[in-house]
Amino acid sequence: MTGRSTAGAVTRALAEVHAEVGVLSAGEIVSYIPRLALADPTLFGVAMASTEGHRYQAGDADVAFTLQSVSKPFVYALALADRGVDEVSRWLRTEPSGEAFNAISLDRATGRPANPMINAGAICATALVAGDDAAERYERIRAVLSAFAGRDLDIDPEVYASEAATGDRNRALAYLMKAADALPGEVDDSVDTYFRQCSIRATASDLAVMAATLGNGGVNPVTGVRVVAEPVAVAVLSVLATCGMYDASGDWLVRVGLPAKSGVSGGIIAVSPGRFGVAAFSPPLDTTGNSVRGVAALREVSSRFGLHLMHATTAAPTVRTDGAAGDTLRRIARHDAERTAVARAGDRVRLVGAQGRLDFTSAERVVHALTAPTPPPTWIVLDLSRVRHLDPVAATMLRRTLAELTAAGHRAAVVGHQHLPPAERFVTAEAALAWCLAGLVEFDATSD
Ligand code: GLN
Repeated sequence: MTGRSTAGAVTRALAEVHAEVGVLSAGEIVSYIPRLALADPTLFGVAMASTEGHRYQAGDADVAFTLQSVSKPFVYALALADRGVDEVSRWLRTEPSGEAFNAISLDRATGRPANPMINAGAICATALVAGDDAAERYERIRAVLSAFAGRDLDIDPEVYASEAATGDRNRALAYLMKAADALPGEVDDSVDTYFRQCSIRATASDLAVMAATLGNGGVNPVTGVRVVAEPVAVAVLSVLATCGMYDASGDWLVRVGLPAKSGVSGGIIAVSPGRFGVAAFSPPLDTTGNSVRGVAALREVSSRFGLHLMHATTAAPTVRTDGAAGDTLRRIARHDAERTAVARAGDRVRLVGAQGRLDFTSAERVVHALTAPTPPPTWIVLDLSRVRHLDPVAATMLRRTLAELTAAGHRAAVVGHQHLPPAERFVTAEAALAWCLAGLVEFDATSD
C-alpha cells in the first residue's frame, strides 16, 4: 500500500512523539534572513515515509517552509550525478569541519571547502551542477528536488529576496573560494542559484519522502521514479552521517545514529537506510542552528523505533523452512516402494526455502542451512520461489554451494525461476520433492 495513512500503530506512535516533544519551548527563530524571522514559532510537524512508500505524519506536516540547508544534500546528489565522484571531490572535501554552517572552513593550501553541507561547500556544489547558465542550473535543481519529493516544488520569492538582500557572508565565502581558484563557477551566479535553492519550499511530509528516496538507493518509494543512481545516494548519506549536523555531527551520530540534515528555517531530515525517511519542522533553533523540537523529535523516533545505525538488528527472516520435508513426502508417496523409501530414508531429503531479497547477508544464512552436515546422498531442495531479487553475489554463493554439494555426492534441486546449475530446476516444491522421492526409491532399493 502506498499513500498517506492516518490511522494505525505507526501514526499513533508518531503522534505520541509529537505530543511529547511539542511541549519544548526553547530556541530562537533565525533572524539574519529577515523574512524567516516572521515564522510562527508554534508550528511543529513530524512525518515519516518508509522505503516501501508508506507515509505517516503528525502535527503541521503539511505546512510549507523554505528548505534552506536541507536542500544541500539533494543538490550535492545532483552535482555527483552530473560530474561523478572523482570530479566533485577535486573541488570539495568530505571531512567534518567541526565548525558552524557559515564558517570559513576552507583548506589553507587549496581553498577547498571542508564538505558540501556547510555553506561554502554547498555553494561550490551548486556551481558544479550542469547547465549552460544560472537559470538552467536552477531549473535542474528545482526539478531534481521535485523528483525527490514526488511533486512539483516552487520557490518562496519573498524569502529568496530577503536572503539575496542580506547574504553578504555567503558572497564573501564565494569570493574567498574564487580567489583560491576553488569555485567552479562565477560568484554572483553561484551564490544567486544557492539562494534560490535554499528558498524552495516543501512540507515535512515532502521532506520525509525526499529522505526516504535517499534511504531507498535513489528511487522515490512513492512514485517509483529513480532520481539518482544508488552509489550517489550512498555517497550523500555517508557525508550526512559525518557532516550533516555541522559542529554537532559527532554528538548526533552517538545519540541519534542516523544521517541527517537541518536547515535554519527549522526543517530537519534523517535517513534510516533501507527503512525510513524521517522529517520534522519547527522554527525555533538551538545555538548550533538546528531546530530544537526537530532534533528532539528525531532523537525520540530513532530511539523508540530502534533505528540507530550502529544498533545491530536482525534482518528479516530469510530461511523459511529448514529440515526434512517428511510430511510432503508421506503425502505424495503413492505406492509401497515409495512409502517404504520414505519411512526408511525420508530424512535424506532436506527442504530449504528462502524469501525476500537475497543479498550477501541473507545468502550466508541460506548457505549455512544448505550445508548442515548430512550423509551423502541427501536430496537437497532449495526453494527460491518466494525470493524477489537475487543479488549477483548471492547467486554466485548459491551456485558454488550447490556445486559443492553435488560434488560431495548429494542431489540438488532448485525451485523457482533461477537457473543454478548443476541443480535440477522445478517450478513447484512439490514437483521437486516428487523428483527426490523417485531418487529415494532407487537409493533404498540399491542399499538393501
Ligand atoms: N540559506 C541559508 C544560508 O546560507 C542556509 C543556512 C542553513 O540553513 N543552515 O545562510
